[in-house]
Amino acid sequence: MVVILKMVAFDVLAQDDFAMKYLIDVTRSLDTFEIELEWDGKLKLENEIFQFAATAPGTYQTMDIGRFVSDFRAYDKKNRLLEVEQLGVNQFRIDQPKKSVRITYKVAETFDTKVKKNPVYLMAGSSIEEDHTLINSHTMLGYFHGLQGQPIHVKLERPESWRVGTALPHRDQALVAENFDHMVDSPILAGKLTYADTILDNTRVEIYTYSANNKISSTDLLSNMSGVLDASKQFLVELPVDRYTFLYHFEPNPPGQTGAWEHSYSSEFVMPEGEFTPSRMKSIEHIASHEFFHIVTPLNIHSEIIEQFNFVSPTPSSHLWLYEGVTEWASNILLYRGGKMDLNGYLKEAWSKKIMITEKYFREDWSLQDIALRSYAEEGQKQYGNIYYKGSLVAGLLDIRLLELSEGKLGLRELILNLVEKYGKGNPVSEETFIEDIVDMTYPEIGDFFNKYVLGSEDLPYEEYLKKIGLKIVRPAKQPVSVFKAKKLTSEQGQLFDAWSQNLSLQR
Ligand SMILES: [Zn+2]
Repeated sequence: MVVILKMVAFDVLAQDDFAMKYLIDVTRSLDTFEIELEWDGKLKLENEIFQFAATAPGTYQTMDIGRFVSDFRAYDKKNRLLEVEQLGVNQFRIDQPKKSVRITYKVAETFDTKVKKNPVYLMAGSSIEEDHTLINSHTMLGYFHGLQGQPIHVKLERPESWRVGTALPHRDQALVAENFDHMVDSPILAGKLTYADTILDNTRVEIYTYSANNKISSTDLLSNMSGVLDASKQFLVELPVDRYTFLYHFEPNPPGQTGAWEHSYSSEFVMPEGEFTPSRMKSIEHIASHEFFHIVTPLNIHSEIIEQFNFVSPTPSSHLWLYEGVTEWASNILLYRGGKMDLNGYLKEAWSKKIMITEKYFREDWSLQDIALRSYAEEGQKQYGNIYYKGSLVAGLLDIRLLELSEGKLGLRELILNLVEKYGKGNPVSEETFIEDIVDMTYPEIGDFFNKYVLGSEDLPYEEYLKKIGLKIVRPAKQPVSVFKAKKLTSEQGQLFDAWSQNLSLQR
């Protein structure tokens, strides 16, 4: 998923003083971005291919952005056209790269452009309307082969009154990214936006909101968010970033798959606009909790496949159980442990509802590893959503198993924080041996757990595990599954239930 690449990785590729300078013009058309790219420095023969993204970190979706590109042109310094050849859907080859000084092209917005297959998620897409634009850079910018690690400057040609929301820093009226990955990691929302900010301990939190009919404001969202931020802080001990930007986009009838997409210092939400009711507030709060937790994983814990993201050919990591399953589990239990959600609310949201949905809508014979490794295939896309249900439930069971084996001293939260301590940013885990690592850090029995429920697709042992902490699951005829606390707990159950209900002290 989305991570700023380690600079060392680019040493071999780095070309001194090479910077890509983009101009994105959203004033000339209401459905097409007009893009111009110039660069400081000279292209070499090995930089002849200009690459658009086949996919983007954290989306597990084939996007083929080249599908949206037209009028791709390259120029020499006398403004003469150079020959260009399209090699595949996402690649353009410039015939005489050493002579070229500038390219221009157009890219259709993903929101309102019909495609036969692989529609781009809205929160990872692009849009231009009269009063705003949404820019996810992988949907319109690219890089020359060999220069993915070079800095990027972006100027946004836009109506003067527009406010610009992004986690990217500004310099001389341009937004500046360290490299292409950083650019993709930093969506931009601009237009008629409301703004609010706050400081939580040492973390500055900013909110930018586009609400088509002004129904939801950044101030509303901020007051709603403080509980999530507070509970996250309790769960994580300290927030791992010094700043964070929430970008919200609300319109009445979003033209596709809505949701939210996480980044290192921001997240982008696209959701239907409506009155700011308590139930809408709750759902926004839950998604915010999920996206915010992603700063732990994949930002701080991920494998080398995520660390060096491949924009050319989609390469899945098998540890989606961690990136999305554990994140979804954490986003709920942190609210319960932080006192923002009561026990019954938590059990309904994180257990009963998820058991019902995973059993009703998804294939039980797909393991969490299958869901990860096959996510880019069409059949895989149909099962992908289960990572938020089965993935979260498996994480919940793993938490209980760890608490049982450690006699209430270490649960999944504590294991995750130990992993952050051990690995952390810029130090990826091994795709191959990560699970063995976890077993070494915990108990041999955890190896069996992974074999059965992450790598394998054995039936999940809800009843057996929930009982360990004094919870019960019932399946009344023709009624939904229900999970609740038993009336009487043994002292062993009571002890584990108490440990399970709180953020434990860390033993390092
Ligand atoms: Zn997620």
